[in-house]
Amino acid sequence: MDESMDCGEAEARLQDYLKRELTPELAAEVRDHLVRCRGCFGHAQFEETLLQLLEARARRETCPGALRERICALLRAEADQN
Ligand SMILES: [Zn+2]
Repeated sequence: MDESMDCGEAEARLQDYLKRELTPELAAEVRDHLVRCRGCFGHAQFEETLLQLLEARARRETCPGALRERICALLRAEADQN
């Protein structure tokens, strides 16, 4: 077991990671985990897409259709994994 960060910790840090509010060291550890853990990687992609959607909404931009489709695709992929 050479995992320096487990799924729970990666999950706990995910929001800060996506907002780039972690120290470079912590961000590297999260990224390291995401590269190795398919489940967390999928989750991170989903959260990142949601974050982009919220930011786009906050800027009062119309929701791009491609982004909606990406979220739907991610949700389907998530469902397939379970
Ligand atoms: Zn994980």
